Amino acid sequence: MRLWGVGEERAKQLARLAITTVEDLLLHRPRRYEDRRNFQAIAKLQIGEPATVRGKIIAAGVKRWRKGDRAMFECVIDDGTAHLYCRWWQAQPWMEEYFTVGREFLAFGKPESLRPRTMDHPETEWIEPGEESFIHFNRIVPIYPLTEGLPQRWLRGLMWRTLARYEAGIPEAPWEKLPVASGKLPVEKSSAGPLAKPSTVSQQPATALLPTRAQAIHRLHFPEALTDAGLARQRLALDEFIALQIQIQQRRKNFETRAQALPCAGDNRWMKPFLVALGFKLTAAQTRVLREIRADLGGAHPMRRLLQGDVGSGKTAVAACTALMALESGFNVALMAPTEILAEQHFQNFTRWFDPLGVQVELQTGSRKTGERRASNVESQKPRPSTLGSRPSTLIIGTHALLTAGFDLPHLGLVIIDEQHKFGVAQREQLVRKGRYPHLLVMTATPIPRTLGLTLYGDLDLSVIDELPPGRGRVKTFVRTTETLPKVWEFLREKLTAGRQAYVVYPRVEDAADGMKAVTREFESLKAKLVPFGVGLLHGRLKSAAKEAAMADFRAQGVSVLLATSLIEVGVDVPNATVMVIENAEAFGLAQLHQLRGRIGRGAHESFCILISDAKKPDSRQRLRVLEETTDGFRIAEADLKLRGPGELLGQQQSGLPRFRFGDLTEDLPLIRQARDIVAKM
Ligand code: ADP
Ligand code: MG
Repeated sequence: MRLWGVGEERAKQLARLAITTVEDLLLHRPRRYEDRRNFQAIAKLQIGEPATVRGKIIAAGVKRWRKGDRAMFECVIDDGTAHLYCRWWQAQPWMEEYFTVGREFLAFGKPESLRPRTMDHPETEWIEPGEESFIHFNRIVPIYPLTEGLPQRWLRGLMWRTLARYEAGIPEAPWEKLPVASGKLPVEKSSAGPLAKPSTVSQQPATALLPTRAQAIHRLHFPEALTDAGLARQRLALDEFIALQIQIQQRRKNFETRAQALPCAGDNRWMKPFLVALGFKLTAAQTRVLREIRADLGGAHPMRRLLQGDVGSGKTAVAACTALMALESGFNVALMAPTEILAEQHFQNFTRWFDPLGVQVELQTGSRKTGERRASNVESQKPRPSTLGSRPSTLIIGTHALLTAGFDLPHLGLVIIDEQHKFGVAQREQLVRKGRYPHLLVMTATPIPRTLGLTLYGDLDLSVIDELPPGRGRVKTFVRTTETLPKVWEFLREKLTAGRQAYVVYPRVEDAADGMKAVTREFESLKAKLVPFGVGLLHGRLKSAAKEAAMADFRAQGVSVLLATSLIEVGVDVPNATVMVIENAEAFGLAQLHQLRGRIGRGAHESFCILISDAKKPDSRQRLRVLEETTDGFRIAEADLKLRGPGELLGQQQSGLPRFRFGDLTEDLPLIRQARDIVAKM
């Protein structure tokens, strides 16, 4: 079906905006609104404050300077109160014919100067008394995202006509017939800044009348008041969140009706000696979480649980206990980690813990396969043939290699995924499908802002370790410029002399065009700077064996300093390391810096994180200050979500999140909650 007035050419242009149906068109969201009931007087313009003015062209022409290679087009308009100079820095040939004296236009932009009053590159729209002028003037008008060749005014006209024709037929969402949607919609206060404590955000939302979907779509384009447009946006966002929640809850329901849980609660026969040998007492939070997990493992449906605990909160010990429950029950367990280094570290720890219990621990990464263990990496020296699968109660630890098609694990009772945020939702599902609905525990240190928790992880139950083990030295954080580096190195040497270790982190592996510090380039000079202390090098382009060796050397205190990329961000645990210096800190996200900082402050000694940055932009320094002010990973993640968006926060891998047209994960928590409640009652 073709809309009236949309020919081949226009249809192509609309397709570039991903508009191919009437629905797409009606959901094309204005990028802003202009109140054209009252115009700003040119005489009253303020510097830097965006405004729309209307005026008649009194002069126009190209200005050249310095022998003519650059040309500017300038056009002066008058609205009876003053003159405004509109400038375009790249004069185009068509401009002279277009901006002719006597025509009248609207200009939207930010005044650059008031003497004379000037706007650079304003958005313009002709004032013409044409047939449809009532659509474009004397009202609040929508300004749409456009594509080359598509005029604002034409699209607005099309929108008006399309609405007029189809508005009456816009179906209500099915959930609207439900009693819960009683016509109230939470109205968010937008006052909460990026650092507002989550608990203060819209706890008690005011309510306003909920428009119907048809009303919302009408008001989205042609609102009577700007608040109407805001409410319309919220209503349409609610529809999006509801659609997503339906998917999530459907997925969960399918799974629950289809899957029988394997009995994995265990009988404590290995757990008891393990806890005695562990050398510390579990925190109250760890114990509570384990109780939740045990209930799941003995329940009717397979566990699907997200364990969230800030860096250093002791998730590994919880993973070990969980694994033991399934192992005691006679099942195999798989533990997946995002990097080889972390898999290796887990392999060493779990071997140390489980060997005395007679539980087999295997490692499978891209470079090392089951059974090919090198004697130097395990404490028990006698080589053991791989017995994986022939006898249950084996823990297999690995990286993405666990997902390869050829790998199959019999009697798989439990899958644990460490640092879940490094994997995609699809990968999570892939590993679970290896068995007959094994239990699933995913762990993450990225404190997931609640909006994401309810959307992306909406099909998982949540456990939180909200307490750090006792006796932890606090981490002090400082933001400094490169000028202070000599002092920083001096401070570092002091700590090394006292027997501590340190990480130095740069953003790049090799020289890059952006001039950021690169570990391979700086390695020799850092070594020279820190003589006699040894420096190790670790980055993603090293061969696996070299990575392992570097990590092992650092852990065994063979070197005092590890120069690394953000590769060490996840999981690495060396309690004697108490200093971390991060140069070009502005290159990292806040959540990532928080993770990196989590590598220190793991022992009893006081720890220091020094963020070096010469970033000039005030907001990038402001951003780093967040880390100086708080070690609360939750607040940091919320700030990061606001500043960089969900894609950045979760890493590129996180493909599970849909693109919202209207929903905004940084501020729509009340709507997301409401969507979840509505769907739960459906
Ligand atoms: P994360 O949650 O970041 O994975 P880890 O599991 O690596 O943290 O634990 C961090 C450090 O804290 C480890 O050295 C671990 O042995 C230690 N630890 C864990 N639980 C406790 C506890 N209850 N008491 C003391 N130390 C603990
Ligand atoms: Mg960990």
